[in-house]
Amino acid sequence: MSAASPEPGRAPLTTLPGVGAQTAQRLAARGLATLQDLWLHLPRQYEDRTRLTPIRDLRPGVPAQVEGTVEAAERGFRGRPVLRVALRDASGGALLLRFFHFRAAQLAQFAPGTRLRAYGTPRPGPHGLEIVHPSYRALGGDEAPLDEQLEPVYPQVEGVGPALLRKLIARALERLPGDDALELLPAALRGEVPSLRAALLYVHRPPPDADLAALSAGTHPAQRRLAIEELLAHHLSLRRQRIAWQRHAAPAFDGPGALAARLEASLPFALTSAQRRVFAQVRDDLRRPRPMLRLVQGDVGSGKTVVAALAATLAVEAGAQAALMAPTELLAEQHFASLQGWLRPLGVETAWLAGKVSGKARARALEAIADGSAQVVVGTHALMQEGVAFRRLGLAIIDEQHRFGVHQRLALRDKGGDDGLLPHQLVMTATPIPRTLAMSAYADLDVSAIDELPPGRTPVRTVALGAHRRPELIDRIRAACAQGRQAYWVCTLIDDSDEVVAQAAQSTFEQLQAALPQVRVGLVHGRMKAAEKQAVMRAFKDGALGLLVATTVIEVGVDVPNASLMVVENAERLGLAQLHQLRGRVGRGASASSCVLLYQPPLSRLARERLATMRETNDGFVIAERDLALRGPGELLGTRQTGIASFRVADLVRDAALLPQVHALAERLQAEAPGVADRLVERWIGGASRYAAA
Ligand code: ADP
Ligand code: MG
Repeated sequence: MSAASPEPGRAPLTTLPGVGAQTAQRLAARGLATLQDLWLHLPRQYEDRTRLTPIRDLRPGVPAQVEGTVEAAERGFRGRPVLRVALRDASGGALLLRFFHFRAAQLAQFAPGTRLRAYGTPRPGPHGLEIVHPSYRALGGDEAPLDEQLEPVYPQVEGVGPALLRKLIARALERLPGDDALELLPAALRGEVPSLRAALLYVHRPPPDADLAALSAGTHPAQRRLAIEELLAHHLSLRRQRIAWQRHAAPAFDGPGALAARLEASLPFALTSAQRRVFAQVRDDLRRPRPMLRLVQGDVGSGKTVVAALAATLAVEAGAQAALMAPTELLAEQHFASLQGWLRPLGVETAWLAGKVSGKARARALEAIADGSAQVVVGTHALMQEGVAFRRLGLAIIDEQHRFGVHQRLALRDKGGDDGLLPHQLVMTATPIPRTLAMSAYADLDVSAIDELPPGRTPVRTVALGAHRRPELIDRIRAACAQGRQAYWVCTLIDDSDEVVAQAAQSTFEQLQAALPQVRVGLVHGRMKAAEKQAVMRAFKDGALGLLVATTVIEVGVDVPNASLMVVENAERLGLAQLHQLRGRVGRGASASSCVLLYQPPLSRLARERLATMRETNDGFVIAERDLALRGPGELLGTRQTGIASFRVADLVRDAALLPQVHALAERLQAEAPGVADRLVERWIGGASRYAAA
């Protein structure tokens, strides 16, 4: 094909017959703006209406199409209106169709003797199998032909009915160009996989004999083909962003490291060999005149903060500033306390800036940051967005974030000072990313792991208990506090509105306070003012409180070594990553700690597996792998935070096995056909790839 021809899928949807301004708007609201967007709006499942299943052969849970005669239809009321239709076919089997939403007129369609064709998933009911809300139609006298193809069921688009959506997608597919115009993968590289055109047509219109199980699992070769192309485009794009970023200049911090050595010597502990190794990797990066982009993964309590402080000293030694940002004020404050404690004795000036710093204090901090007298600045992530001007920011450290997005990176670009140099970046996270994901998610980052805990920590003992055992726990807390130990009581709810959770925490707080008159109980939740929260956290840290009732605001980073017991309520509702984070709040001191996961029976299979995993292991990397297997990467990584799970077709868990092939392909394409690589990125990532040039 000619390299100059435009992407054929870029035509706007308004060029399709039947798409007016309003429909276009509704489609656009769902991210569907071009022909290609519709090509890639893939069915989420298929309905097989190419054949009829005798009612007698129906199996619970297996969707099927049946045809039969209405024996009876009646309206009833069981707490809510219900319409029941009894259907029988020649096989002698009987099936109940049940409707909870229906119009009065619908009853007339089900006159006894009417022949019906219905599609749905049978489930066991009180009187044998039934289908709730089947799709159905009454058959006239003539034989109605069966479908010739599996019927695609598309993810819904608000305001665009399923029938219209299907029609529009069919029309868009009519405009699918031939292989010569559409195919980008060179035949030599493609190997056995089908062409893009063939894959798209197959996935939208599978033939009746298609392997429905493979299609439903997303593992059909046609789906794999699409996933490969998408993963390839993402990988190429990330690589380019990295290459583009590293074309910029950054200050090289290649001093003797005397300040770091003094800091290390002043610590009350020896660095673990993992900390030493990771610091050496960081130091190596910082020596170069190219901006570092490094992610440090380290389990909760592995000691990332001190590595950050050591890195900061390298910037300071070279006359540049370092900034450390945390996701919450609480954490930022804790970091500030640590860094100030470590650095001030070495003569390093630290400054604190968060949203709540106001008035004169804020003006003073901003001035110190601008004139460079604040050598290390600690604050929340907002530090980057608030128009804070640094004199010479050389290193930005971002704590507890999986990934520092392109946008923030662009914001950073403006912070480097007037010498045109970009700051180095260090991102730290306690949520380990499984290796398979790290490879593809972080093609634009270098990754280090602090894979060792400081010595002397006793692993946290974890038990899962039904909620009825709550009273025993209260006794345990009483006993622990009497021995001078401290405990957390974490309240969670399925409703994650701050307000409802705060209320639950408030009432738990009141109950526990009443049940434990000898214990000083504190409360923190997300609806409290930052200053109040901090006062309570501080009191807990100082040992003035024995028990802290909290919502998951204490999730990350909070360090109270004397706290050795944690109770998590409704633990069945939390994901593994979050449970692991929470549990990391205990087990930070020398005494043996325990974590009690309270759950409301009955447990779902997933919840049971999660709780079992928590009991079995304390290893964040193992938990991350298990989490990935149970939940999928979108949730694992937090889609909003990362933006990496926003694939249209690919699924990093399902398609992990494709990654080596994808990476090899990327390598070859970049080398042999960079123009094709450009077009792939353009096709799948489109406008977003403009950041590559940033
Ligand atoms: P995280 O990696 O979860 O951010 P922190 O940096 O908060 O962990 O460290 C947890 C605790 O361990 C802190 O009190 C810190 O001072 C301490 N710590 C860090 N490194 C070591 C070490 N090598 N030996 C002993 N304690 C350490
Ligand atoms: Mg931390």
